[in-house]
Amino acid sequence: MSEYVKREKIGEGTYGVVYKGYEKSSGRLVAIKRIRLGCRDEGIPGTALREVSLLRELSHPNIVWLQDVLLQGAHLYLIFEYLPMDLRRYLDTIPKDEFLDHVTVKRYLQQILRGVVFCHSRRILHRDLKPQNLLIDDHGSIKLADFGLARAFGVPTQVYTHEVVTLWYRAPEVLLGAARYSTPIDVWSVGAIFAEMVTKTPLFHGDSEIDQLFHIFRILGSPTPAVWPGLERLPAFKPSFPHWPTATLSAHVSSLSKHGIDLLTKLLSYDPNQRISAKRALLHEFFRTPCQSQQLE
Ligand code: AMP
Repeated sequence: MSEYVKREKIGEGTYGVVYKGYEKSSGRLVAIKRIRLGCRDEGIPGTALREVSLLRELSHPNIVWLQDVLLQGAHLYLIFEYLPMDLRRYLDTIPKDEFLDHVTVKRYLQQILRGVVFCHSRRILHRDLKPQNLLIDDHGSIKLADFGLARAFGVPTQVYTHEVVTLWYRAPEVLLGAARYSTPIDVWSVGAIFAEMVTKTPLFHGDSEIDQLFHIFRILGSPTPAVWPGLERLPAFKPSFPHWPTATLSAHVSSLSKHGIDLLTKLLSYDPNQRISAKRALLHEFFRTPCQSQQLE
C-alpha cells in the first residue's frame, strides 16, 4: 500500500469499505476497496479471489478498471480507477420535477448494455446490477462496478444460490426459486435500471421476495404458463398467487416513446428464454432513431 495514499471513506459494498485515495507516483485518483480477510488459516476469501480474477481479465471502457491488487496484513486492497459519482446518487441530485434528459438515458443504456455484452460474451454474469454500482464520470461515460458477486458460469449443471441480485433488480426466475439461471438475470436488471433512469424512481420496489414478485405482477400483469412455459414448475410458484390481468408498464414510463417501451418490454420479458439478450438489445430500433423531440424516441 506504500504506493497509494488512502483518504476518506466513500462507500460500503457487500464485501468491503471503499475509500478515495491517490497513487503517489502519478497523483491519479483511485478507489481503494478494503476487504477484511478471515483468520489466517482461511486465507483469502473465495469471494474476493473471484472478484479479483474476474476483474483483472475485464478491460472495457464500460467496466471499472481494476489496476492493482495488494495484500497487506489482514486486508486485501483492490485499487480501482476512481469515478466521481454513482447513478443512484446522480439521479438524486436532479431537482424534484426534472428528469434525466432523453439523450443521456439513451447513451447510458447503450453503454450499460455494451458492458453487459462484454461480460456475457466471456461467460461472466454480473448478478448484482443496480444504480449504486453503475459509476459515472464527467465525460458522459458509465461503467459497471462491483463484481463482488460475479462468477463464471461455465458448469451448466451447477446450482446457483438464489440470494444474489438485490431485491428491486432481481429477475422473476430468481424470485421464484429457479435452480439454474443465466445471462437473462442481468438483462432484467438493466430493464429495471432503464425505467429508473427515465422516472428517477425504482420500477419494482418490493420489501420482501413475495412483495417484490407482486410489485412485478401488478405492473407487468401476472405471468401465466402461456407467456412463460414451465412457470408452474418453479419451486416458489403458487397457483394461488393473486392474478393481475393487465400490464400497466407504459403508464409507469409515460415519457418513453413506443420504441423505448418496446425495448423495455423485451428487457422485462417474464420467460428468460424469450427475454432479449444484451447483444440484440443494442440492435433495437430505439438506438437507431435520433432523439429529436422531448420524448425518448
Ligand atoms: P461497491 O463495494 O462497489 O458496491 O461500492 C460501494 C460504493 O462505493 C458505491 O456505491 C460507490 O458509491 C463507491 N465506489 C465503489 N467503487 C468506486 C470507484 N471505483 N470510484 C468511486 N466510487 C466508488
